[in-house]
Amino acid sequence: AQDTLIRTERMNTLALMGAGLAHDLNNLLCAVKSSADLALLNLEEGLPPGVEDLTRISGAADRAALLTRRLMEFARREVEALAPVELGREIHGMEETLRLLLPRSVDLRIQVGAEAMVVWSTRLRLEQMLVNLVANAGDAMPKGGTLHVKVARSGDQALIEVADSGVGMGPEVLARIFDPFFTTKAPGKGTGLGLSSLKAMVEEGNGRLEVESEPGKGSRFRLLMPLMRSEALSPR
Ligand code: ADP
Repeated sequence: AQDTLIRTERMNTLALMGAGLAHDLNNLLCAVKSSADLALLNLEEGLPPGVEDLTRISGAADRAALLTRRLMEFARREVEALAPVELGREIHGMEETLRLLLPRSVDLRIQVGAEAMVVWSTRLRLEQMLVNLVANAGDAMPKGGTLHVKVARSGDQALIEVADSGVGMGPEVLARIFDPFFTTKAPGKGTGLGLSSLKAMVEEGNGRLEVESEPGKGSRFRLLMPLMRSEALSPR
């Protein structure tokens, strides 16, 4: 469980680093631009470009290269090979972790269908997805409630449903929840990157993320992923 929290933290850190990096790179580019403009002005007037301006350009480029290299190193450690994973088993294995994300007053009920459901993913990814939805549900139920996590087959897709009895969302919020950086949470409590990155991850795997919600009643997130057919799996 500790591991998962650390990994989730790392994913969030990665998203934040991305945003921070864009900001820092922009500052460096502005420095490059103004120093290059000054050097050009000199040239236009028949003067040699100032050593100071060129030094500033070179230094800014060095710092930009260092920044991007750090981010790439950090990101590479997150990459994991996709493989067939059985949803039910993985989700049962996460039960303790998910419980830790919820207030004590929330009743977590996990229901997994009997048949094996194999999807093309990784344990880390699945955990990341579930942790995202369950943490949000916990935030939506500060006074307690019930959280149903259901795993079932839906045609040729696997369905993971996360339904809470929390505060719910009105249409204005619902329309924006997948926008990066959209959050209704206090600063420091929410980044607004959870659902947008979750949606991107799901769609990358040819899946779908749906949501229904009613203020005061609760929210239901439905995550659909293509099932792997058994003949596609290599025999043991
Ligand atoms: P964050 O949790 O950092 O705010 P998310 O992208 O995960 O970012 O969620 C965006 C917003 O969607 C939240 O701030 C909240 O307003 C709303 N939201 C997400 N899940 C739920 C939920 N289960 N119940 C009510 N509101 C939710």
